[in-house]
Amino acid sequence: MENKVKFYNTLTGKVETFVPNEEGKVKMYTCGPTVYHFAHIGNLRTYIMEDVLEKTLRYAGYQVKRVMNITDVGHLSSDADTGEDKMLKGAKREHKTVMQIAKYYTDAFFEDCRKLNIGRPEIVEPATNCIDEFIHMIEVLLEKGYAYIAGDNVYFDTSKLENYYVFSSQSEKELMVGVRDDVSEDTNKRNKSDFVLWFTKSKFDNQELKWNSPWGTGYPGWHIECSCISMKHLGESMDIHCGGVDNIFPHHTNEIAQSESYTGHKWCNYWFHVHHLNDKSGKMSKSKGEFLTASLLEEKGYPALVYRMFCLQSHYRKPLEFSYEVMDNVAAAYDKLLKAVERLEDKGELDREAFDCYKNKFLEAVASDLNTAMGITVIYELLKDSINDKTKLALIRSFDEVLSLNLTGGSRKNDTEVDPEFEQYILEKIEERKAAKKAKDFAKADEIRSKLAEQGILLEDTREGVKWRKA
Ligand code: AMP
Ligand code: ZN
Repeated sequence: MENKVKFYNTLTGKVETFVPNEEGKVKMYTCGPTVYHFAHIGNLRTYIMEDVLEKTLRYAGYQVKRVMNITDVGHLSSDADTGEDKMLKGAKREHKTVMQIAKYYTDAFFEDCRKLNIGRPEIVEPATNCIDEFIHMIEVLLEKGYAYIAGDNVYFDTSKLENYYVFSSQSEKELMVGVRDDVSEDTNKRNKSDFVLWFTKSKFDNQELKWNSPWGTGYPGWHIECSCISMKHLGESMDIHCGGVDNIFPHHTNEIAQSESYTGHKWCNYWFHVHHLNDKSGKMSKSKGEFLTASLLEEKGYPALVYRMFCLQSHYRKPLEFSYEVMDNVAAAYDKLLKAVERLEDKGELDREAFDCYKNKFLEAVASDLNTAMGITVIYELLKDSINDKTKLALIRSFDEVLSLNLTGGSRKNDTEVDPEFEQYILEKIEERKAAKKAKDFAKADEIRSKLAEQGILLEDTREGVKWRKA
């Protein structure tokens, strides 16, 4: 039996008790990154909190199926269909192809996620994989009279909907976040709020990636990808859709418009939005050019998990201002916490009653609209309590299933704790494999990797070199 989880639903403007469509199972969708640049730490705040939501749901007993898209086409520099495709902008900046840029920044994004203990969603799908699905949905929207062709582009006709601005009554201000100053009029649009479903060569002739479609060679608009990719994997209804607050309008409003016009019924019941990380000069954004990344923080001496803790110390529904002073405080607190946990001795009998009591307390905190700061406070309370170390350690390990701060060090430290002779052997094998790769003897390199795997040692090739850990 699952426990209750409450969180704020942007659609209703209330904190609600979550009830999935199918008992015990959650279908969750996350708007993924636009991979034309590194993710900045603002983007990562959103992904950290979405990760906490998924882990809280699992902790509460739900099975979660989560899907994320990778935006590698169609997202223009203005969310309102004007400007250049961001991917093309990235490719030009680096004198590479769009696909090279997409691959590089997708890998970089998941590397950041790995460092920050952000779990990879079960399904990750790039938009360019799903062109047929987009074309199909647009055809149906045209057939049903929700879309029209003008100036060789296909547009969604928002005047066909009784209530297009689904989020507006609850979050008028957030709605305005998406309205940019640089929005210029597209005279093909029948209504100002209409949006592009498919661009053809009539617009942006220099677009690098183009596909054939019934409306001419072109490429999809940004919003259609999330409707199609979610339906491809989750079916025509789902439980939770997530993103940052800037996604509320126009992106999520448009996703709902096209999805519900396509299916003829309600699409998603809960909308979860994370507020922005700002720096002193305002919202952190990739298009500003200069921004902070997880790697930059590491270079400055802040481990990625300090940034995760920085995010968990504040509530996801409040804007968060980044500052090095606060990061320093969090780094010191994190260090102290790790040391306090390290002093605990894994001995004695588990105190079941105390375990259940604290586990409930922790779950109650995180299941109350993701009060992660309160969840961390429960750890401090627990450390001060007189219950035995064994129980404390078991609880902290359990809380870390949600917080993912590597608190018990266990996963990290024990991962590389082997006897010195064996360690020497592993390091020699890694060197041998390196030499084999250099000599282009990939069969031998693979053989060394497999042999180590049989012995319970896994190798990982990272930008910093080869790392190993116990399986
Ligand atoms: P993008 O890669 O620009 O498509 O954005 C990826 C995710 O980061 C989206 O869910 C955005 O809503 C979110 N996001 C963008 N800017 C910020 C910010 N400053 N703080 C938090 N989340 C953000
Ligand atoms: Zn989306």
